[in-house]
Amino acid sequence: MLASPLVTALLERLTLEQKVRLLTGASLWTLHDEPAVGLRPIVVSDGPTGVRGAALDDRDPSASLPSAGCVCATWDLDQVRRLGALIAAEARAKGVDVVLGPTVNLHRSPRGGRHFEAYSEDPHLTGEFGAAYVTAVQAHGVATTAKHYVANDSETDRFTVDARIDERTLREVYLAPFERMVKEGAWLVMSAYNSVNGTTMTANPLLRDPLKDEWGFDGVVVSDWMAVRDTEPSATSGQDLAMPGPDGAWGDALVEAVKAGRVPEDAIDEKVARLLLLASRVGALESGPATVPVEPWDDTAIAGLLREAAADGMVLARNNGTLPVPPREGLIVGVIGQHALRARAQGGGSASVFPRRVVTPLDGLREAYGADAIGFAPGLPPVDELHPLAGGTVHDPLTGAQGVRVRYLDEDGETFSEEVIPSGSFSSFGDARLARAARIELTTRFTPDRDGRHDLGFAGLGGFTFEVDGVAAGAGSLGVPEGGDFMAALLNPPSRVASHDLSRGRTVELRLTYTPELLGVPFASVKLGFKDLFGDPEQEFRRAVELAAASDVAVVVVGTTEAIESEGFDRPGLALPDGQDELVRRVAEVNPRTVVVVNSGAPVLMPWLDEAAAVVLAWFPGQEFGAALADVLTGAREPGGRLPTTWPTREEDVPVWEVTPDNGRLAYTEGLHLGYRAWLKREADGGNPPALPFGSGLGYTTWQIGAPTLTTEGDRVVVLAEVTNTGARHGKQVLQAYLSRPGSTVERPVAWLAGFTTVRADAGERVRARIAIAPRAFQHWDTEAHAWVTEPGAFTLRIATSVADPGHSVPVDPAARG
Ligand code: BGC
Repeated sequence: MLASPLVTALLERLTLEQKVRLLTGASLWTLHDEPAVGLRPIVVSDGPTGVRGAALDDRDPSASLPSAGCVCATWDLDQVRRLGALIAAEARAKGVDVVLGPTVNLHRSPRGGRHFEAYSEDPHLTGEFGAAYVTAVQAHGVATTAKHYVANDSETDRFTVDARIDERTLREVYLAPFERMVKEGAWLVMSAYNSVNGTTMTANPLLRDPLKDEWGFDGVVVSDWMAVRDTEPSATSGQDLAMPGPDGAWGDALVEAVKAGRVPEDAIDEKVARLLLLASRVGALESGPATVPVEPWDDTAIAGLLREAAADGMVLARNNGTLPVPPREGLIVGVIGQHALRARAQGGGSASVFPRRVVTPLDGLREAYGADAIGFAPGLPPVDELHPLAGGTVHDPLTGAQGVRVRYLDEDGETFSEEVIPSGSFSSFGDARLARAARIELTTRFTPDRDGRHDLGFAGLGGFTFEVDGVAAGAGSLGVPEGGDFMAALLNPPSRVASHDLSRGRTVELRLTYTPELLGVPFASVKLGFKDLFGDPEQEFRRAVELAAASDVAVVVVGTTEAIESEGFDRPGLALPDGQDELVRRVAEVNPRTVVVVNSGAPVLMPWLDEAAAVVLAWFPGQEFGAALADVLTGAREPGGRLPTTWPTREEDVPVWEVTPDNGRLAYTEGLHLGYRAWLKREADGGNPPALPFGSGLGYTTWQIGAPTLTTEGDRVVVLAEVTNTGARHGKQVLQAYLSRPGSTVERPVAWLAGFTTVRADAGERVRARIAIAPRAFQHWDTEAHAWVTEPGAFTLRIATSVADPGHSVPVDPAARG
């Protein structure tokens, strides 16, 4: 790749200083331009569940996709292909060349804070989804980034933790999805914050081998943000690009190191060559191909796809026949729970976007059943969170236009710049005005849409004064809580509110001044907003139970909160927070038709599982949450999901629990046995089965799966099976192929996923399912030969509808099949 004539010619035009300058970002989300080679700045953006672009608030909104766990639960690569096309269109519309996704770390422990952002506990399933994402997005000339290479499977001490993993486990489990994506042609790989086996990933030999040498990766290794913390070790390793910029550990120090002979100039040339190849791929070079145009999607097309994909990923974990509940005259649906009102459509952290809209479960169910059919009771106190003032309630005091006026004030209190933003949410990074601003002021005219108490105030990190109609209404300095993570505080900042008695339609002037805590970087983030009100807790709880008792069907929406499930930390436990289990139990006691909807990115404990009439796992399903949920509950669509990860009954049964490093080290002692593989191993030793096995999920119809037949196509074993929809309506089934090797001469998982396919069929229809199994599924990594080998003899192949389904088993000898 380095021999490309175009790249070689361009390299020759650059001085050492010019080359090194290109290897650190120009800002948070851009790379440097270089007129000497006709290079324009390349723009990058986070992207696993939507393309945020450069904006850090809702000034440039994005489509909010179902998070990876939900997408993977579809087990349908066509879904990810369609979503990939949307990602590319969003990227192009925002001028983004490189999307920082997908995340292909694994669900090693259900406690992982970024569990929602990764696909599965299974390396094969993860690799297939990651690869489909890469192809779908890059087909439109937008680059993708496989991240985080490697073993960033939990968040505790993520900058420093040293994951200790044996060679075979690395190859077969944690590197496998990256290998799949590199082979598929991913243009970037992101090196992780953590270390593996003693070396930080930005300087780790794994960047060279297997990534670049064995797998032939010809793209750019970009660092995770601020992960490059040294000069020579990272520069002499396979690390190519340090992000963000413009400052960092490379720059002048790297020029010096090259001049002093401590870093060979060839190493710099290789990095720049890779960067120029990327530039030509995304159309950033004058002398290279032009950027591929991508048609923008309209809001209806976006909503349509996101609604369908979310419903297709929702998993029906239990159903005693209560679901679906089609709308009918006189039906009363009692909707209960704070998550119905304040849905978690997406997970927190760098993957989050500012959606154009979010359909909450309450909105969606009102739309589907009619507002009169729906009663609502939150039941439990709201999460302590400040919501930005938005929509028709806020108007610019100067022009009367909708929004909030932001003023930048200098040392003398003079306004030197101003703008109007759509809501009370303001975030900015790298804007030169921030460096000059002594204070930032947000003013708006707020018109309440109801009478009575309003808890108004602010959230952020820095110093604040707040006035309502010219009267002081709060002031103070808000910082990172003692012992807290800066990132977590930034994403979920401290807040302060005071109560005001206001009248509907009577406008008040709000004025918030904010002195950002700059921390050496030009960054500001502040919210002007309100907190949800809540009545007497006992009365509210009673009201929810009474509503359930008086309804034909009770729909309880429960879930995790940003405070317990997000980037930057792991979950201490798997229980739902804040008394939600008790709420479900009490509702189920009074209404035998209680449907529980779980709104979490990762497994939670469901001690009431057998008491509910039906349970829908909705994940973080993106902006069309409520519309998709309504489709599933009414039966307009089938819940199409199957679990991409195992859900436990009890914490003590979880095979991989520990995410806290011991003395800086996190030992992956379970080796190959994570997720369902570990559950199977334990069950073989008399352990408890999980609540919901990997691959499981119900639909609204029934199926008959015929005995499989085997053939070969090229180097693949192909499994064929007749699948009949024996029920009364159209449906979807997911067929899974598991391999096992009883009596193997090497240690192996009890069973491992080797392939899968989804089938869709009308009532009574018979279709033929086909699963192609790649040779790699039969191979293991030999730690003496340091190579992939296939153990001679027969394997057992099982076709099933979950890992726990006995299905049909047949022997298969890949060698005998040529
Ligand atoms: C995350 C990355 C992300 C980057 C930029 C980091 O903290 O780990 O996944 O791409 O920030 O937002």
